[in-house]
Amino acid sequence: MTKYKLVCFDLDGTLIENVKFSWQIFHDYFQTDAHRREDARNKFFNGRISYAEWAMHDMSLWKEKNAKKEEFFKAISHLKLMDGAMETLNELKRKGLRLAIISGSINILLEKVIPNYEDIFDDIFLSRIYFDNEGNISQMKVTEYDVEKKAEALKLIAQRENISLKECVFVGDYLNDIKVMEEAGLGIAFNCQEEKLKEVADVVIEKKDLREVLRHILD
Ligand SMILES: [Mg+2]
Repeated sequence: MTKYKLVCFDLDGTLIENVKFSWQIFHDYFQTDAHRREDARNKFFNGRISYAEWAMHDMSLWKEKNAKKEEFFKAISHLKLMDGAMETLNELKRKGLRLAIISGSINILLEKVIPNYEDIFDDIFLSRIYFDNEGNISQMKVTEYDVEKKAEALKLIAQRENISLKECVFVGDYLNDIKVMEEAGLGIAFNCQEEKLKEVADVVIEKKDLREVLRHILD
């Protein structure tokens, strides 16, 4: 038996190699209003609106532009799954570990890089866009579990599954992963350029191959 029972991954920059902020890709592609975005961003960081309100504000800007499903996928056609990601996920699964995504990213990106993601992850926390048959946005659901609240998502899964936080692993790359990494028994900073995250991580992996996490989790 391994020491760990649950492994949670961030998406942007961790499972997906070449993206730091997925939302920015769509803002650029659909050319949304920078001033309105800046205003909502400031409101969030000043504590005047919640993360979910901020996310819904920004997502609504795409709907206003009548953004189509095929355009969303065109905007992210250059995105690549991290090297070694599938081998890593399959191996952890084979060993009986529970897998989760805790991310502020969007379901479209996950679908693009791991089409069979429903078969692999037991829990998925991210924001979602759904389309109707004509490819128009039919529904938008935003996650509230980003930034500090990623830690709450980790606790939700752990409590429900009767897993102690010591038995949880979090793998992430950016500042929004700091809090959740502090809570998890094993924090792995991966593909990380942020000194603050490296400081709270138990392990820092410089090589851009996700298989590098396996020996830290399974040994
Ligand atoms: Mg990230």
